[in-house]
Amino acid sequence: MVTESDGFDTRAIHAGQEPDPTTGAVVVPIYQTSTYAQDGLGRNRGFEYGRTANPTRQALEQCLASLEGARFGMAFASGMAAEDAVLRQVAPGQHLILGGDGYGGTHRLLSQVAKLDFDTVDMSDLASVAAAWRDDTRLVWVESPTNPTLGIVDIAAMAAFAHERGAWCVVDNTFATPFLQRPLELGADVVVHSATKYLGGHSDVLAGLVAVDDPDRAQGIRLVQHVAGAVPGPLDCFLVLRGIKTLGVRMARHCENAAAVAEFLQGHPAVASVRYPGLADHPGHHVAAAQMGPGFGGIVAFTLAGGPGAAQGLLGRTRLFTLGESLGGVESLLSYPSAMSHASVAGTPLGVDPALVRLSVGIEDVADLVADLAQALDGLR
Ligand SMILES: *Cc1c(COP(=O)(O)O)cnc(C)c1O
Repeated sequence: MVTESDGFDTRAIHAGQEPDPTTGAVVVPIYQTSTYAQDGLGRNRGFEYGRTANPTRQALEQCLASLEGARFGMAFASGMAAEDAVLRQVAPGQHLILGGDGYGGTHRLLSQVAKLDFDTVDMSDLASVAAAWRDDTRLVWVESPTNPTLGIVDIAAMAAFAHERGAWCVVDNTFATPFLQRPLELGADVVVHSATKYLGGHSDVLAGLVAVDDPDRAQGIRLVQHVAGAVPGPLDCFLVLRGIKTLGVRMARHCENAAAVAEFLQGHPAVASVRYPGLADHPGHHVAAAQMGPGFGGIVAFTLAGGPGAAQGLLGRTRLFTLGESLGGVESLLSYPSAMSHASVAGTPLGVDPALVRLSVGIEDVADLVADLAQALDGLR
C-alpha cells in the first residue's frame, strides 16, 4: 500500500490505485456504468450515480491529490471545465487579476462566458499586481510558465500577496505538472490542470483536474462538479491515469530534449530570440530555478529574425514537428500561437507576437529533433 512518504513516481503509479477489491485487477478498471445498485434505502457502497462519483474517476482524483500534495482532487471533462468550476467560486461583482500572457482560453472564458470583472497585468512584476488591486479583488489567477511566452511568476510571492489582502491564489500548473512544480507547497490555494497536456501525455484524451487542500474550497468546487456535471467519462479517466504512471520519466526526457533544442535555436542565425526558463538569460530563470525542478519543462518558444513571414514559412518545413494545437504529448508539435491558440486575442494588447513559434518538444531522439529544426530553419534562407 502506498503512503504519502513514498516518492513521486511511486505515488504516480500507486496512489488511488490499489488492486481492485472485487477481482484483484492491478489496473483500475474502466467502470463504464452510470448507476449503482443500492443495498437499501439510503444505503449504498459509496457510489450512487455517475455524475457524482465513479470509481475510475475517484482513482484519478486521489492520484492527482497525492501528486499535488492536496487533500482533494477533482476531475473534469476538460481543462476549461475545471477552470469554469473554479471561477464559479467568484461571485459576480467581485474582481479578479489575471496574467496578461496566459492561456488565451482563460481570458475568453472570463470575458465572454463568465463575464466577471477582471484586469490583466504583468504577473512577473508584483508592482503591477499591486497597482491593479481593488478592495473587491478576490482572486489572482497565475500561470507559470505562461502559454506561449514562457513567462515566470513567483508563486510564493504572489500567494503571500493575495493572502495578505484576503484573496485566493489559483495556479494553472499545466506546463510544469506536479513533477516539476507543486504550487500548494508554495502557498497557492487551488491548482488547475489541463490534463489533456502532459498528465495524459499522449494526445489522446481531453480532461481537466483541480487540486485543493482547504475543505471549504473543495466543497464549493465539488458542488459545481457534481451539480453542473462537466465530468470526464471513465475511459478518459483511465487514459489520464495511465498517462500519469509515466509522468516522471516523460517529464525528465521532455526537459532534457527541450533544453537541447533551446540551446540549438539560440545559436541559429535565423532565430531572433529564444524563450525557455532554463536559459540563463531568461528574466525569470532564477525564480524558475527556485520553484521548479528538476528541469524547466518541455515548451520552447522563439521568434524568427525574418519576422512573421519567416515564422509562417517555417510551419510547413518540419518533418517531425507536426503543426498542431495542444502540447505535452510524447510527439513533438509546433504551433503558431498568434493565429492558433491565441487568435481570440489577436490585435489586442494581449495578442502574441506574430513572429513567435511555439514548440512542444516531445520525447523522440533529440538528435532527430534538432536535425529537423536545422533543416527547416536553413531552408528559410
Ligand atoms: C490547454 C490549456 C488549457 C485548457 O485545457 P483544455 O483541456 O483544452 O480545456 C488551460 N490552460 C493551459 C495552460 C493550457 O495549455
